[in-house]
Parts: sequence; C-alpha cells; structure tokens
Amino acid sequence: MKQTADIKVFISSRDSTCDECGEPLGRHAWITLAQEKGALCLACADLDHLLFLPAGDAALTRRARKHSTLSAVVLKWSRARKRYERQGLLVESEALARAEEECLADSEVRARRRERDAVRRADLDQQYVAEFAGRVRELYPNCPPGREVAIAEHACLKYSGRVGRSAAAKDLDENAIRLAVIAHIRHVETEYDQLLANGQDRREARAAVEAVVSRVLARWQGTVES
Ligand SMILES: [Zn+2]
Repeated sequence: MKQTADIKVFISSRDSTCDECGEPLGRHAWITLAQEKGALCLACADLDHLLFLPAGDAALTRRARKHSTLSAVVLKWSRARKRYERQGLLVESEALARAEEECLADSEVRARRRERDAVRRADLDQQYVAEFAGRVRELYPNCPPGREVAIAEHACLKYSGRVGRSAAAKDLDENAIRLAVIAHIRHVETEYDQLLANGQDRREARAAVEAVVSRVLARWQGTVES
C-alpha cells in the first residue's frame, strides 16, 4: 500500500528547537511540522532512520520512493523564488539499495553509492559502534545476527549530529541501549512505518504496535520462550 500524502520535511532557515525533546537544532535544521506541536526534529518524528536521496536522478528517485514504505519530501524555502523547493527525498536504506540495483546499469549510480558509503563510514565512530553493538548483544542475546550492528550504527549516526545528546548517549547505559533497540524493533519488526505512511498519528501508531514491540523485546532479551 502506498502512502496517501507525502510527509514533508523542511530545512529550516532560522534557529529552531524541537518542541518535543527540547533539543536546540541550530540553523538549517531538518524538521517536520506537527499540527498541535510546532517543529519536531527527525528523531522525534521517527524519520531519522531514513536516508537522504538528493534530487537530480529522476529514475532513482521514482524507484526509491516506490520501494520505500515510509518516505518524506525534503523542502527548502527559496528566498529568491519565494517558494519551497524540493531538495530530495528521505527513503529507507533498503528501498534505496533496491532502486540502485535496478539502476545498476548506470555506472554513475554505482560511483555515487561508493561515495555515500565512504562518507557514512567516515561519520561513524567505529569504536563506539563496536562497544554499542557489544552491549546490545549482551543485553539482548536472542537478537538476530547482525542486528546489533545495525542498531549501533543508527545510534551512532543519530547522536553524532546532535550536540548535547552525545554525552548521555555515550554512557551506553542500559536505558539508552533499550531505547535504541525498541526504536529498531518498531521500524523493522512492526507495521509502525506503514501506519505513519498512511498518515496515522504518531502516538496512536506507537500504541498500536506496543504489544508487538514488547513481545519481540522480551524474546530478544531471552525472558520468554521464542
Ligand atoms: Zn526532538
């Protein structure tokens, strides 16, 4: 099922603060606008697991959007033209990979993927990722192989760009790990992203998948029989 309306992400042109977590986001922050709340950072909007695909390659964009359960249009105000201009798309990494496979005949795309992978690797604090992944594996021994790395890389990317949060996150305390694992389960093991894509309110969507999240969490933790 495709989403009904595009979720919009705005690149802010002034200093902004997230109205949910209170995080100062600085200038040019990427935000969503919720109806009752004001601006939400991508982490609070649960869009921070998506990758940015800059506009410019129509075929790749169309395919990535098609394969992505949840996607968002990134818009920026053009002072010169006095209107919002499309900067690109936020899509799921698997959707982008699949779209790239389909475009693979195009060698330019391959070059761009290598470039993006290199940038991504450079952004990651490898030691932090290894430690975080180790803690995930320790606390959730039944988590499927490899997931601890995906969870750790996401946590690392998330915190690296967010001043003020890094200190707390780098504690690797049980609660920080638990929150990262829950976010991963919600996106990967439940219908949550589909619900968001269908325009459901974030709180309702969270409530709808809560039981599944708890079940998976308990299974990974080894506190219930799988
Ligand atoms: Zn926030």
